[in-house]
Amino acid sequence: MTVIVLALDALDAGLVEHFDLDAFRLASSGDLGTFAHTQELPYTPEVWATVATGLHPEEHGITGGGTSEWDNPVLEGLSRISGRLDESTRGTLGKVVRSQTGERERIGRTDAASIFDAEGAVVHNWPGVADGQPLQRAWDLMNAVAEGLSRSEFERELFGQCAQQFAWAREMLRHPVSIAGVHVHALDAAGHAYADDEDALRHAYARVGEFVEETVDALEDGDDLLLLSDHGMRTDFYPPDAGKNPATHSWRAYASATTDTRPESVFDVRDWVDAHVSDTRVERENDEGGEAIDVPEDHLRELGYLE
Ligand SMILES: [Zn+2]
Repeated sequence: MTVIVLALDALDAGLVEHFDLDAFRLASSGDLGTFAHTQELPYTPEVWATVATGLHPEEHGITGGGTSEWDNPVLEGLSRISGRLDESTRGTLGKVVRSQTGERERIGRTDAASIFDAEGAVVHNWPGVADGQPLQRAWDLMNAVAEGLSRSEFERELFGQCAQQFAWAREMLRHPVSIAGVHVHALDAAGHAYADDEDALRHAYARVGEFVEETVDALEDGDDLLLLSDHGMRTDFYPPDAGKNPATHSWRAYASATTDTRPESVFDVRDWVDAHVSDTRVERENDEGGEAIDVPEDHLRELGYLE
């Protein structure tokens, strides 16, 4: 059957308790050990590439220098402070970002083997491993926030993307898939934008929690769900963060699984997933097997789909 791996960027173990959200607390849940490499705090692309490969950044190659626009200090600084600036200052900063970054580069992709190379495994988007475009869209959205995007437009875009990613994961449960992985950036973006707005961030957590519940409800016997984060997010309302910079990454990464064990560290995830992928993968009822589809080629050629 299928192991769904949800990469919930910046899901904070402390905030799950602070907001008291059962949706994230599956059969086994708690802190996940994470690391910092090129920065003082855990750095998104480095950690997610490690989760997928089980390797240190020096081995998988997705590090500060190899992550292109991830590494941009202007963007990083902007996303920390934009939530607390008046609108005219935000607009100016947005222009500075554009003029300093110029043409965007692509987010790096590791050559190392990952959990998604396993037979029957699929991945939708995953920093450093597969399809960096959704992440680039998330950065575009943070830029737009810095330039004064309204709250309702921000949330429409943010949860619209989030809904697509969760819907993809649920759909994979209907197909003969061994591992399905997807990275969801919503809580990182919401955390940067709402580090000083407890009600707004609680609402974002609760909405993502509803998506998690829908995913759990879609699991069939033998399917498992593992949700993970790469780091948490400091806020100005969570007491342990007092005196620290809000909207910077916290060390409170989180893991939660429908099984009776969960990975203890981001370096353990690959082995954990390997151990939970069933050796005897049962084909889904609606699966017609692996035979090729008999397509009406002449018709498709007329329509211009085929050369
Ligand atoms: Zn992150």
